[in-house]
Amino acid sequence: MSNSDRSRSANESAPLGKAEDIPAALRDGNKTPSNRVTSTTVSALPLGGIALGVGLFLVGITAFNLVTTSRDRSTPIPIASPNVDPTTTPATAPSSPQNNTDNVLNHLPYTEAPTAELVSIGGGYRLRKPAAAKFQAMVAAARSSGVNITTISAFRSVEDQKRLFFGVGAARGQQPTKRAEVSAPPKYSEHHTGYAIDVGDAAVSATNLNQNFETTPAYQWLKANAATYSFELSFPKDNIQKVSYEPWHWRFVGDINSLETFYKAHNLQGK
Ligand SMILES: [Zn+2]
Repeated sequence: MSNSDRSRSANESAPLGKAEDIPAALRDGNKTPSNRVTSTTVSALPLGGIALGVGLFLVGITAFNLVTTSRDRSTPIPIASPNVDPTTTPATAPSSPQNNTDNVLNHLPYTEAPTAELVSIGGGYRLRKPAAAKFQAMVAAARSSGVNITTISAFRSVEDQKRLFFGVGAARGQQPTKRAEVSAPPKYSEHHTGYAIDVGDAAVSATNLNQNFETTPAYQWLKANAATYSFELSFPKDNIQKVSYEPWHWRFVGDINSLETFYKAHNLQGK
């Protein structure tokens, strides 16, 4: 069921409306806590106004707390958040006992790779430079063993993922909880990092993005050799993140930036 989701993502770029981001952003923009504090303090200058000023100041602080608290709760996907932002947990996030970090429907937050860090790996696909070099060496080694590994998806922008999650989800009439079983919400896909890649076996393309990809020569070769090229499976069977088994989805973990990217997000793995 995830077949068409993943394969479409790399080639299509139909824009999706940004309406889902607007209400929260507008609401936040109209309530600037510092304005409230400043105006009440200035108006309380003379006589016993000091006591009044202190009282209003406290009211202002309370309002500040209320505003910031409600903002944290009401903003499901904040704009321009850092890689792992402790304020982004929405009220709708499921509470997993194994999960001690922020997630949305079991998917972890990732920052989009800077464009300058991305290089082509052919076929219109891009990865970060270190991952691209190792991936291409891996594909060449496999080919010399008679195995033809193909690329199905690589780097995906947050915009790509918006269309994939909300657009395709709506077209299929899927609730977000159902959608998240096969697709990460925007800002929560490993594909944003430029280190993750979906692969197939050219000889058995019917298994593309299907769990029976694990029966192919390509998967068997990767299982035996991917670590040599610093790639690992992101979502093995029964993974602690509780994402569906994806034998086609691999990630580069061969330098400190990629390692930090995935394992700081995966604090749960240490539990
Ligand atoms: Zn993938």
